[in-house]
Amino acid sequence: MILEVTNLTKYFPVTGGFFGRKKLAEVKAVDGVSFAIHKGETLGLVGESGSGKTTVGKNILQLQRPTSGEIWFKNKDLASLSNKELRPYRQKLQVVFQDPYESLDPRFTAADIIGEPLRLHKVKGGEYNKRIAELLKLVGLSPYMAERYPHEFSGGQRQRLGVARALALQPEFIVCDEPLSALDVSIQAQIINLLDDLKNKFGLSYLFISHDLSVVRHISDRVMVMYLGKLMEVADRDSMYEKPLHPYTQALLSAVPIPDPAVEAERKVIILKGEVPSPLNPPTGCVFHPRCFKAFEDCPKVVPVMGETSPGHHVACLLYKECWP
Ligand code: SF4
Repeated sequence: MILEVTNLTKYFPVTGGFFGRKKLAEVKAVDGVSFAIHKGETLGLVGESGSGKTTVGKNILQLQRPTSGEIWFKNKDLASLSNKELRPYRQKLQVVFQDPYESLDPRFTAADIIGEPLRLHKVKGGEYNKRIAELLKLVGLSPYMAERYPHEFSGGQRQRLGVARALALQPEFIVCDEPLSALDVSIQAQIINLLDDLKNKFGLSYLFISHDLSVVRHISDRVMVMYLGKLMEVADRDSMYEKPLHPYTQALLSAVPIPDPAVEAERKVIILKGEVPSPLNPPTGCVFHPRCFKAFEDCPKVVPVMGETSPGHHVACLLYKECWP
């Protein structure tokens, strides 16, 4: 296991009153989430916007500090470390951002951008130039592109630069936060293959955050589904896609087109009623109950716990006896 997250919560205060100092409420962006990621594994994290998936990624990277909970990496709870103590761990935990257009500074060349983490770690001279050329080659770009500016690259090439920057300090774990959502479908496949190749070459582990279930199916070994700050279901990829247990997962998957025309013709889309409720005032009991097409009288009263219904398949829904507290 490379990373273990235990009972992670991240609440954001909503303030108001005189000078905005009075705490009026709390947004429960992540509320009691626990999971583990194995070495060399890609764990997909899916959910609608507002589900808390990006907040989970930021808290693992310590770009945001958790409200409570533990994040174990290399026998240390990152959540309990000071900024200074975190420094040696930060280089082993990297991120590839969503939008390559926004995450690359247009004033800097490709070499400047990829080399920034190297400069921070005092890599200089010939070693620095050699490493930049290596990183460009690793992500399928020519070392001759080192002096080009971001606007001289295509969207897919810019995302390759983002991956090269993430690789600069030889990380062990990378949070990929919607890395494909700004790219054309044809380019998405190339970046998926690149991430897969790099994972195999360097034994990397990924948390792959996306709202796109088709993409997650391609790249993930296991998949987690989040809704309103909570985990709804965790399973290996095939169990999740072939036998989803949670009504929310079933609804999400019912909206994914199936390539086989015969099966596609039979597909029935489950339309969820209403909008995602505000995390300021989440529903009682099962947070999904106002939109659930299988809700029954206990659902607004009882909070389901994560239960293991078959080896490795966990779900939080009162339809399953394992999930009753
Ligand atoms: Fe639906 Fe009830 Fe299961 Fe929640 S606990 S997902 S409301 S059936």
